[in-house]
Amino acid sequence: MTISRKSRDDIKYMKMAGNIVALCHKKMKEIVEPGILTIELDNECNKIIKEHKAIPTFLGYNGFPFSICVSINDEVVHGFPSKTRKLNEGDIVSIDIGATYHGFVGDSAWTYPVGNVSDDCKILLETTEKALFAGIAQMKEDNTLDDVGRAIENVAKSKNLGIVRNYGGHGVGRKMHEDPFVYNYSTGNKIKLKKGMTIAIEPMLNLGCDDVFTKDDNWTVATIDAKPSAHFEHTVCVTDGEPILLTRFDESLI
Ligand code: MG
Ligand code: MG
Repeated sequence: MTISRKSRDDIKYMKMAGNIVALCHKKMKEIVEPGILTIELDNECNKIIKEHKAIPTFLGYNGFPFSICVSINDEVVHGFPSKTRKLNEGDIVSIDIGATYHGFVGDSAWTYPVGNVSDDCKILLETTEKALFAGIAQMKEDNTLDDVGRAIENVAKSKNLGIVRNYGGHGVGRKMHEDPFVYNYSTGNKIKLKKGMTIAIEPMLNLGCDDVFTKDDNWTVATIDAKPSAHFEHTVCVTDGEPILLTRFDESLI
């Protein structure tokens, strides 16, 4: 396995890519509400990404037909935006966005509540976000990938949530998916994190069991027990100090 380490210039471009993704998420937070068509979310992100001279990374990736993934309630990841499907009060919606700027990718996902959601869904969202930041806190030089997975798993277990096993984080850079794969639970992986590694950390946690399946569209992944799932993701750079969140909004980069 080769894990690439990025130069200072590479990181600069990844920050730009990440900031464009963050801008899209800022917009999503504003416009996600009951009644909006999910294709409108795609249209907005496509517009923002192109306005900032970037490319929607997902569009055409392995044939994926849209600029973003929109996964509602029991859908985990890779859901399709649609001209007919609206968000409804009480839904939770996971929006995954990628932008390529100057050849480098930023990748970030967030799950938004649509209007008022159930107490269980509130706990799911809070816990999955907490798991993301617990994983990120382990992104320190000479920590292992296992430290990251274990931190995420511990947060998930604290609220008895299911952990999606078949999908996880990944190296990111010139390609959206690079080595290493990052499990959201402990696997004993002793690979060490090193300065300049850029990795997307992305727990996917479920209110029910761990297991998921792919729907007939060959993309949308959903929970087998039809219980809600949440997905939070940042692209992160390892340094010799605190990790840098490349997909966190930074006004100075606009
Ligand atoms: Mg990702
Ligand atoms: Mg993503």
